[in-house]
Amino acid sequence: MTGKSLIKQTVAQKESEKKFRLSVLVPRPFSGPLDYVCSQPLAPGTIVQVPLGRKEIMGCVWDADWRDVLPPDFRPARSQKFFDLARLKPILHVIEGAPIVPESLRRFIDWLSAYTLNAPGQVLAITLRVPLSGGMRPGLGWLLTKEPFPATLRLTPSRRAVIEAASSVEPQSTVELSEKSGASSAVIRGLAAQGILKETALKPEISFKKPDPFFHETLLSEDQKRSAQSLCERVKEQKFSVTLLEGVTGSGKTEVYFEALAKALEQQKQILVLLPEIALTAQWMERFSARFGVEPAIWHSDLGVKTRREVWLGAALGDVRVVVGARSALFLPFDNLGLVIVDEEHESTFKQEEGVLYNGRDMAIMRARLVSAPVILVSATPSLETLANVEQGRYQHEILQTRHGGAQFPEISLIDMKKDGPDRGLFLSPLLCESIDHSLNKGEQAMLFLNRRGYAPLTICRACGYRLQCPHCTAWLVEHRARGRMSCHYCEYTQPIPHECPECQAETSLVPVGPGVERIEEEARARFPEAKILSMASDTLSSPAATAEAVRKISEGEVNLIIGTQVVAKGWHFPNLTLVGVVDADLGLGGGDLRAGERTMQLLHQVSGRAGRGEKPGRVMLQSYVGDHPVMQALIDNDIERFMQQEAAQRKPGFWPPYGRLAALIISSAQERLADQISRELALNAPQGEGIQVLGPTPAPIAVLRGQHRRRILLRTRRNIALQPLIRLWLERVKTSRDVKVTVDIDPVSFL
Ligand code: ADP
Ligand code: ZN
Repeated sequence: MTGKSLIKQTVAQKESEKKFRLSVLVPRPFSGPLDYVCSQPLAPGTIVQVPLGRKEIMGCVWDADWRDVLPPDFRPARSQKFFDLARLKPILHVIEGAPIVPESLRRFIDWLSAYTLNAPGQVLAITLRVPLSGGMRPGLGWLLTKEPFPATLRLTPSRRAVIEAASSVEPQSTVELSEKSGASSAVIRGLAAQGILKETALKPEISFKKPDPFFHETLLSEDQKRSAQSLCERVKEQKFSVTLLEGVTGSGKTEVYFEALAKALEQQKQILVLLPEIALTAQWMERFSARFGVEPAIWHSDLGVKTRREVWLGAALGDVRVVVGARSALFLPFDNLGLVIVDEEHESTFKQEEGVLYNGRDMAIMRARLVSAPVILVSATPSLETLANVEQGRYQHEILQTRHGGAQFPEISLIDMKKDGPDRGLFLSPLLCESIDHSLNKGEQAMLFLNRRGYAPLTICRACGYRLQCPHCTAWLVEHRARGRMSCHYCEYTQPIPHECPECQAETSLVPVGPGVERIEEEARARFPEAKILSMASDTLSSPAATAEAVRKISEGEVNLIIGTQVVAKGWHFPNLTLVGVVDADLGLGGGDLRAGERTMQLLHQVSGRAGRGEKPGRVMLQSYVGDHPVMQALIDNDIERFMQQEAAQRKPGFWPPYGRLAALIISSAQERLADQISRELALNAPQGEGIQVLGPTPAPIAVLRGQHRRRILLRTRRNIALQPLIRLWLERVKTSRDVKVTVDIDPVSFL
């Protein structure tokens, strides 16, 4: 060998030995990305397979300076050790064919993790949840490497067959390869281990049709046109803004925001519509198809793996133009997001209450800010948070004053249950029953609403006073007579309905106390034997198809008395429904919940909005024991604005949200003593200072949940004091035990 070529070779060798440090965020609760090495630099957002301990998992190449992009208050501490390159493990390989996780989504993940005080990897896990998960799950296939085969490779006949089968430009799944080659999946994995086959994301199979902004344009009323135009202006600006679209149910808010959506389509943008899970209905989809000619892509928690993967990839590649989904759709890797719409923005179900706790509505606003897109918040009864932002000029406001086509908002009246209540053991007052008779006789439909599943919320022994309770929770067992079970509504516990009292063994002494929808249905069947009754509850409607069938029966007039829980309140449009009876309007007002009044008002307003949506006027009757409560007064006077002003006036002086900030610490442990001890230590070390207040610890209203004893501490600050740095320092001051879990809930919605 000549001297020259020798030098050349060593340079080449050096080159090939060159190592690059890579930050990789993995879906695990570390405080930040981990460092790996790679023989080539990889762009942030690249999805890679890395070793972790004895496992191999999928991660995402992260920006080295991710911390610096966050506001200083929010930056998590730098706690990871810095290792020499030589000590770092190499990444295994790039998941080929997987799109880059866009920068805006990476910043969103960082921001959300800092805001909610969750590890960034736990937030990334939401993005990586199904579609491209590592290993041999569906969604990944194999491609032949382009490198020359190693000399050591033993080419058995079955290996040869696999290599032949795999020489295609498109990746193929394990099943496909094994069918074509006749070799087992072990052979395929063996070749992968040798680096002959590379794991690669399969191409999506569904091709998403493009919604057509001009497919069927709606002729808008003047009022609607004005709002639509202004929303379209926001879309055209292509910059961040928030607009509240407010209007009574039936005023055509959906039609109006469809115009903004059409405008964004015209601009070749992607659009995300967030709906509360319960409102993701066939009716909404049909309206979308009627307006835009095709169905939108859907995203929610029970999608099949295949659809999830396709929507995920479609969002990243830009094939998917419109996604309508539940809150987790915020974590889709949109390529070109240009509009975010949050319908029913006041809904408390936008709050994720397990795992990473975040408010979908608030995070939608951050998501839009990071891609410089406008947001439209839609509601008939906007939350106080949103109204305060409107008042302070941060959000714009569009109002639709009237129901479309001259329909009137129904007249709401009260039935005083203290005076005009039904006989003992019954729950439908004579006045309400007469009105139902009247509606049914006229050939119209009526609806009874009770936001409680099952037959009875409490079962008590007449002989000894014993109450049937969940063995794992501080909660009564709810009788579900149709299923023959007693169930806890806070955990999965269920048991058969007992025949005798478990305490005193008295027979036939157990009596149900209070109603659930099943009991109302029983009463209605006895009282209205002629009626065609349909019952709708979230636990009896087993599937979207079952819901669609129920809706069809109502729409086509096959039934005339509908009895249901929350599911009947949502967005439905039944023109022949003229009477809504609320069985227990007071339900929901109890308990120490900050927003109990606001939420009850919103729910009752929404369910009221089901009546009189067509030509015939509607009526609503509220059965209540507390008729002079501000919620009831606001509803019967149809003066929600006044009610919200009263709410604001109540919350302002104490700096309750939205006029201050709130976070909850939930301390839970299987050992009550430990829960108490850590709670006390947290209280002793609580942050102090002007504008900072700590409330608690107190036992949570559900003091025992799934066998865990729970204590709660609330931290409340003035608006100008960020909670996150206070909490971070606070938790660092207190040494907790492995047997105690401290959950931080920023902006809590549930106080259970
Ligand atoms: P909201 O979302 O405010 O409750 P919707 O958008 O559901 O109101 O509208 C209520 C009903 O009125 C729907 O059936 C809708 O199709 C109809 N509607 C509203 N605006 C128009 C319009 N401009 N032209 C025709 N139908 C309309
Ligand atoms: Zn339970």
